[in-house]
Amino acid sequence: MNIGILGLGLIGGSLGLDLRSHGHHIIGVSRRTSTCQAAVAIGSVDEASVNLNILASAEVVFICTPLGLIVPTVEQLITFLPATTVVTDVGSVKSPIVRVASSLWHNFVGGHPMAGTAESGIEAALRNLFVNRPYVLTPTPTTPKSAITIVEGLVKELGSNLYYCAPEQHDNAVSWISHLPVMVSAALIAACMGEGDADVLQLAQCLASSGFKDTSRVGGGNPELGVMMAKYNRDALLSSLQGYRNNLDTIIDLIEQENWQHLAEIFQKNQLNRPNFIKD
Ligand code: NAP
Repeated sequence: MNIGILGLGLIGGSLGLDLRSHGHHIIGVSRRTSTCQAAVAIGSVDEASVNLNILASAEVVFICTPLGLIVPTVEQLITFLPATTVVTDVGSVKSPIVRVASSLWHNFVGGHPMAGTAESGIEAALRNLFVNRPYVLTPTPTTPKSAITIVEGLVKELGSNLYYCAPEQHDNAVSWISHLPVMVSAALIAACMGEGDADVLQLAQCLASSGFKDTSRVGGGNPELGVMMAKYNRDALLSSLQGYRNNLDTIIDLIEQENWQHLAEIFQKNQLNRPNFIKD
């Protein structure tokens, strides 16, 4: 199959590596010529250009640009495509993208691979990034079945675990398990850096080990992505942050009241509930 990838960064570059290894012909487009050259050099794409018209022969196009550019990119891209081309995206927020992109292009299927690293750019592209990871498709009632089937087949080739939901459900769910953790982790790093005693701060930095590494990872990642999550999933994220703040307030109250019994009950419940979120 001729597959186009638009935006050759961490996600686009990684998709290219895996889909190409399944025998597909991958046509890449990115903003910078140097990125196009690097994508060819690492074997992520067969050919690449900074010009969108190279995608005219693609049967499917994955839009992998930064979140805020997905809709404007679809708008520009479709002027070069035959009506049969299936367009899908990998954006971390779905409702605002799917609403507009579906109205612009009948054969549009919203998607989101739940995989990533703290790195960005084509240099960060990895093989097998999507294996055993969730990949959510968010079709609407008007999305053609044939387009869903084509994207579904490619996602299966990546070795991902496929899920379907409405765009709004996706945004509410990822707000809890992806966007809220980024904000909480960012606040954790900022709070630690607020330590007023320079010696204590330096000691804390020396003593930080696996616990801090785990809890600070997502808050110390791509700044642009963090802002995009907040901007495009604002309502769901504010609701999740409010829920988080309520729970934090409860914990503060219990510690102030030295109510160790109730605090222990919270930790016991969490210990039971965490495995429901972490499925290896
Ligand atoms: P990234 O590594 O920064 O890659 C984005 C790439 O898009 C850049 O390398 C850039 O290439 C290219 N680009 C920027 N503007 C462009 C334009 N106008 N036209 C064509 N290409 C352009 O970001 P990413 O992490 O792969 O994220 C890409 C998308 O994946 C986002 O929508 C994000 O929501 C989604 N996503 C990210 C993750 C994650 O954990 N990172 C996970 C799932 C989904 P140049 O080098 O040519 O400038």
